Amino acid sequence: MRKRIVAGNWKMNMELTEGIALAKDINNHFSASPLKDNCEVILCTPFIHLSSVSSALTVSGLSVGAQNCNDHKSGAYTGEVSAAMIRSAGALNVILGHSERRTLYGEDDSLLAAKTTEALRNGLRVIFCCGEVLAEREKGIHFDVVKRHLEKGLFMLNREEFSKCIIAYEPVWAIGTGVTASPAQAQEMHHFIRGLVEKQYSKQVAEETTILYGGSCKASNAAELFANADVDGGLIGGASLMKDEFCNIVNAL
Ligand code: PEP
Repeated sequence: MRKRIVAGNWKMNMELTEGIALAKDINNHFSASPLKDNCEVILCTPFIHLSSVSSALTVSGLSVGAQNCNDHKSGAYTGEVSAAMIRSAGALNVILGHSERRTLYGEDDSLLAAKTTEALRNGLRVIFCCGEVLAEREKGIHFDVVKRHLEKGLFMLNREEFSKCIIAYEPVWAIGTGVTASPAQAQEMHHFIRGLVEKQYSKQVAEETTILYGGSCKASNAAELFANADVDGGLIGGASLMKDEFCNIVNAL
């Protein structure tokens, strides 16, 4: 059975003490009401939180992720953080290809492919984001855009490597806007993505791939999004910064 996952993307929020306090609150919540066997929660924090938040999470099914990594192993890359460093801080996951990295920092498909390879080489699980901007949806090319993101950023992986990846479909027009994709729009794209995975790898791999929805997902709409056959959970931005809201989203799994 494929994993159902809710991942919080804290983005550039929370000073260290605030982040540790939030992580402890979330940990206490799931200590009192444990996650089901096939469910997981991932907290994707700023780099400086990784080590402390990893230590704060003691409950099974909870893990930590970074929001980016460098594509090189080590060296003269001032200000950058390698996949090996992330892993050594206790994180097991990394978000790659988030639309904010693609647009604000110019990360293109080939750089993301290199980052993905480096992350996997260091034992990190990759949460790989794909999704169209509003103009692309309005032009009717949203399926082409998502296909390109996956083909260029992920499908160079062999089957074993790909099995360490989670896909997050994040329509850019829904990120941080309060506008959520409808359950039907999410299901339509997730079904399309699963079909691409089947064509590239196999039916079995497609059935085992976790595909998350991201974009203004909150406690009030999570259940109707997660109820769709191909929506296996969510990547949560703003709502992951509030303990009750976030835990209620997880409960919708
Ligand atoms: C995100 O940035 O990954 C995201 C889904 O943000 P939000 O939930 O705030 O739309």
